[in-house]
Amino acid sequence: MTETRKKVPLIWKITVGFILGVLAGALLGPKVAVVEPIGKIFITLLQMLIVPLVFSSLVVGVASLGDPKALGRIGVKTVLLYMVTTALAIVIGLAMGHLIQPGAGMAIEGAIAAEGKSAPALKDVVIGMFPSNPIQSLAQGHMLQIIVFALFFGIAAVLAGEKGKPVLAVMDAIAETMYKVTALVMAFAPYGVFALIAVTVSRYGLSVMAPFAKVIGAVYLGCLLHAVVVYSGLVSLMTRKTPVWFFRGIQEASLTAFVTRSSSATLPVTMRCSQDNLGVSEKITSFVLPLGATINMDGTALYQGVCALFIAQAFGIDLSLGAQAGIIVTATLASVGTAGVPGAGLIMLTLVVTQAGLPMEGVALLAGIDAVLDMARTALNITGDACVATVVARTEGELNHGA
Ligand code: ASP
Repeated sequence: MTETRKKVPLIWKITVGFILGVLAGALLGPKVAVVEPIGKIFITLLQMLIVPLVFSSLVVGVASLGDPKALGRIGVKTVLLYMVTTALAIVIGLAMGHLIQPGAGMAIEGAIAAEGKSAPALKDVVIGMFPSNPIQSLAQGHMLQIIVFALFFGIAAVLAGEKGKPVLAVMDAIAETMYKVTALVMAFAPYGVFALIAVTVSRYGLSVMAPFAKVIGAVYLGCLLHAVVVYSGLVSLMTRKTPVWFFRGIQEASLTAFVTRSSSATLPVTMRCSQDNLGVSEKITSFVLPLGATINMDGTALYQGVCALFIAQAFGIDLSLGAQAGIIVTATLASVGTAGVPGAGLIMLTLVVTQAGLPMEGVALLAGIDAVLDMARTALNITGDACVATVVARTEGELNHGA
């Protein structure tokens, strides 16, 4: 899995692509649209990896755990850590909103409070996790259903004994091959990153961002703070490794998430970085990371906290402490329900805004700069997944595999 050809490290090439992309976007303006297909192809290639990679490696991972009890323990730990880090993220988001006051002085009037719409029932979410037709789930890339089927399939392959072994051997071979495909696709990353960031910069130049500079500043600062405080803290306390080691190990994935704005599309890169650079075992990455790319969105939650306060301030609405506590709960659930695709967080923001009784016009205001906010929140989303994977791996004695 590790690269044998070690000339210029890939992350350097990606960084050069990124810097050149920013320059090209700023200098050439709309003309850089010609490179847009390169970015689109890069994202498509990343998406191409997801289903076969996740399914095969999860089946192998589950089978190698062997013991359903261990699986339950890992599952509980993972979900708990995901929920706690997400709630902390919203608290940081709300704190940023209070400190920076992004909407203060905008004094927009005439807003109509949004109608009370209700969140999707938890019952439906749970029922929806179970696939009636696993082939259809695979074809549609329905991640939670794929995870559930892979759990059944992996456990059953072990229970089938000798007869199940060829199935696992094939899955193992597919997983290894998919890691190689990931490496091949990543060789294209510097060009993809160049194209994606160039188009974004040309489209959302400084002039569009100026009135919203404070919102952007609050979200970016909040994301940075969350990474530095929560992830650094978790890594140092739980793994006895340094935060620098962690952030350096995951940087390729964080940058990929930043430019693709999709946790799902970045998933293969997150898995690769976690295994190759952080030494998290395949068992852990194959379970913890696909789940995280689907339900753990610290950046999205943090952004929702900042935006709720921005809207309240911009429209001169007072948010009580109770309302803010409500935002913590709704934003945690909303972030769980957010798909790992570009812009999904904005759609879920409507839910948080509705529940807090804030005007929907605020969401429309933010739509113009959503791509810029999405970059930071997606980078934080996947960094959080990798952090939890590292911590869970450490507690299970599954760290330092091949790093
Ligand atoms: N783009 C984010 C992600 O894929 C989701 C969001 O829009 O907040 O992680």
